[in-house]
Parts: sequence; structure tokens; C-alpha cells
Amino acid sequence: MSLPPLPFDPSCCLIAGEWRPPQSLEKLELANPSDGSIITEIASGNSDDIDAAVTNSTHAFEQCWSVTPAAERGRILVDLGRLVLKNIDLLAKLEALDVGKPLTQAKADVKALARYMEFYGGAADKVHGETIPYLEGYTVYTLREPHGVTGHIVPWNYPMQIIGRSVGAALAMGNTCVLKPAEEACLTALAFANLAIEAGLPKGVLNVVPGLGASAGAALCAHKGINHISFTGSVATGRLVQAAAATNIVPVTLELGGKSPLIIFDDASLEDAVGGAILANFYSSGQVCSNGTRVFVQKGIKEAFVKRLHERLQTVVMGDPLDEATNFGPMVSERQMQIVQGFIEKGKAEGARLVCGGERVGTDGFFLEPTVFADVTDSMTIATDEIFGPVMSVLDFETEDEAIARANATEFGLSAGVFTTDLARGHRVIAQMEAGSCFINSYNDAPVEAPFGGAKNSGVGRENSKAAIEHYSQMKSVYVRMGAVDAPF
Ligand code: NAD
Repeated sequence: MSLPPLPFDPSCCLIAGEWRPPQSLEKLELANPSDGSIITEIASGNSDDIDAAVTNSTHAFEQCWSVTPAAERGRILVDLGRLVLKNIDLLAKLEALDVGKPLTQAKADVKALARYMEFYGGAADKVHGETIPYLEGYTVYTLREPHGVTGHIVPWNYPMQIIGRSVGAALAMGNTCVLKPAEEACLTALAFANLAIEAGLPKGVLNVVPGLGASAGAALCAHKGINHISFTGSVATGRLVQAAAATNIVPVTLELGGKSPLIIFDDASLEDAVGGAILANFYSSGQVCSNGTRVFVQKGIKEAFVKRLHERLQTVVMGDPLDEATNFGPMVSERQMQIVQGFIEKGKAEGARLVCGGERVGTDGFFLEPTVFADVTDSMTIATDEIFGPVMSVLDFETEDEAIARANATEFGLSAGVFTTDLARGHRVIAQMEAGSCFINSYNDAPVEAPFGGAKNSGVGRENSKAAIEHYSQMKSVYVRMGAVDAPF
């Protein structure tokens, strides 16, 4: 399947409102995950391109965006959201070809991107400082100001949502942005930036440099012209990003990996619990950071749960992401598929019971069956490591206290879920979960309205909601004295 006609050159970087080839002229190939064919080439940006992008962003910040009235910034973002929706078919198709997302899921991501623009566009002129009571004769107030140039590094699994939440909030607050999308999937990032120009975003306010993490990504983090870094990706890369930010003393928002628990008590609705576990493990072919991949099921219902789960997984429609009927697509890349296959082999070798799945489907695309392991123990590799693919581990437990202790026994802290019809128990358990987003009889909601982020090794700071507005701005305190200065000499 070839790319639809595009109103921009996907092998270029967007710098100062112009589509420019990377300075090295080096390119990277983008593969279609459903058949392995090469769909296009993208720019392999390096430190020279990053430097040009940061220089242009600095100029756009000083000359234009920081002095654009907040209401006008907001209006452009809202217009951009409308344009995103108008282009839903193109954007969804690009995501299906690039990431392998089934069309329905890709369309949901487009709608989320538009919603981010609407939310942060609407918020742009509603961010106020405070007046603070102090001594007689003083007025003290605070101003919320942009950082300047913000760097945004995003992974391949949810390009549109992650760009929406970080770039949307940063632009609303008056920052200018340099975006480094993932090398595996960056077409919707480029298409979004092109729509931003059409919506009236001034040149240089959003620059995009595709490329490898070790070159373009590392150069962006190390650049002295960057005043804030938003990074979404693995814990290992997050450590490098935070170290680079420490050298330049700039704030970071880190959205990292997870190995989240989903606890199912024996009073839960079995159908809802199975549905929740499917949502928490197999949406987007399991390539979701917040997935509840350690499914703790109370002993009395474990076998019934596993049986029903197995039955429902037989109805999966795996196939071409562009086919409207498909609800389960391929993994994003051959490399990611091989990583997940390695975990499946480990699960078998360490003695977990393979309930279903575990096999690659076909030979050209990167399709892996939804896979369930039961009789998993806490120390098995599939229960400790983030897999980032369609692999669920079912563990059993007897008491509430035991479930809580074992659920928290991980380096990660992104999400946690509970299924129970006893709401008091639901609240009690969730209060003890060491995680940033928690769910009772639900899983993986992450709307723009509510903060999203991790505890422990899953991250620093929060995206989404008003919380992100604080991250993408800084406070200034102003002291105004009315009257003579009372100096000691
Ligand atoms: P990754 O860390 O390998 O790559 C993420 C991004 O970082 C890519 O754009 C990559 O090019 C860039 N990068 C790589 N090395 C870099 C470096 N040295 N300096 C700067 N940038 C660099 O992660 P991945 O495998 O692409 O993504 C999967 C991971 O992302 C999983 O761990 C997943 O849980 C996590 N994730 C987290 C969230 C969240 O919101 N918490 C959301 C999505 C994905």
C-alpha cells in the first residue's frame, strides 16, 4: 500500500515554516507494519538540523509568539483542532500505514489530538497569576510566563495524542517548540505541523526534526537553547534525557514505561473484569505504556476468568489496519515484534502456562497473536519487565493485603486498576496503589481533562489537564512598594 498524496515532503524537516532536507541529506526508511514494505523515506536529522530548529524557535519566541496575545494564541490552536478533525481520514490513514493502528483506533487518536487543541486553545487566555497579601504598603503579584523554547521527544505508539498533550499545552502558554518524533513512525507529526501552518501558526513557532534518538534526540536534549524538555519513552532513555537536562539545569517532564497491576476480586462482574483486562492489554496491540499487564485474579474465580478471557479472544479480528473490520493490528516494527517474541519464549521457559496466542501470524507483516499466560509468579521475567506488546500475565492471590503488597512490588508506578462491586474496597485499595492513574471498574481512560503521569520510575511531572499548564510555564513574583524605601543606612 502506497502513501496517499501529501501536501508536504515527508523526507524533510520543518524549520522556520519551510520543508527543508536534512543538512546531511541522510534518510531513514519507514516500513508498513502490516506487510513490511517501505512506504517512504524520512529525514535523518542531526545536531545541525536541531541547531537550526532551536535558533528559529528562539527567534520566533522573541519576535512573535511570546508577544502574541493569549486569546490569539488560543484561537489559532482551536482553529488547528478544527483542521485536524477536517483531515481525520488522511491522518488516520497515515497512522494506520505508519504505526499499524486499526483505522477505528487511529480515528480515536485524531479526535483526541483535536480535543487537545480545543482544550489548551481554550485555556490559553485563562491562566492567571495571583495577588498575594504581604506588608502594608505593598502589592505583590505573580505572573505565569512561558519557559521559552521547549523540546518535545515522542515515541511511536501514540504520536498524535502525545504531540497533542505536550505541544498543545506548551504552545498555549506561549512557548515555541522543537519536536523530535520517533524514527519508527512520524508521518502524523509532520502532517500535524503542516496543518499548524495552514491554521495560521506563525513560522518557526513549531519546528519538527525527525531522526534517530541517539543523534537528533540527544542533540535536542543537550542544546543550550532549550528551556524545558518533555520526553515520552522508555525508562532507559528517560535517564539519559534527565541527565542532559541536569547539565543545562532545565526542567523536564518524563512520561516513561510501566508494568501496571490490575486486581480482580471475586465479587467483580466477570464479564466486566474480562472486558477490562482485554482493554488493559490488547488495545493498540498491547503497545500502551499504562497497560495493566500484571492481572491479579482472586483464586476462587481465576479459572473461570481465564476460560472466559480465552473465549472472548477468539473473536479478535486481526488484519490490515486499513480494513474497518480489523480491531487488532500488527506490532509497529520487526524489532518490536522480536523483542516481544523473546519475552514469550522466556515466559514458556520459566514455566508460565500458555493459555492462548504466542505465535507470529504470517511472514511479511509484524503480527503477533494476543497472548495470555496463566500461573505466572511474581519473579518471572514476564511479570517484572515491561514487554510493550500483546502479552498478559495472569497471577492469582488470596487476600486484599497480599494483592496490594504484590501489586506495588515493582520499580514502576504508572497506573493501577481494581475490579470489584464493593466500592469501599475499590477506594481502599486504590488509596494504597503507588501509581499516577488509577481505575475502579474501568481501565486506561486518559482524557485531556485529568492529569496523567507516573510515580516511581514511571516518570516525573504530569501531562494533560491544568497540571501541564503549570509545567509548561514558570512563575514570576513581583513586589511593588508604595512609599519610601526603608533602608538601614
Ligand atoms: P525510546 O525511549 O526508545 O524512544 C522514545 C523516543 O526517544 C524516540 O523518539 C527516540 O528516537 C528518542 N530517543 C531515543 N534515544 C534517545 C536519546 N539518547 N536522547 C534523546 N532521545 C532519544 O522508547 P520507545 O521504545 O520508542 O517507546 C516505548 C516506551 O515508551 C515504553 O517504555 C513505553 O512505556 C513508553 N511510553 C510511555 C508513555 C507515557 O505516557 N508514560 C506513553 C507512550 C510510551
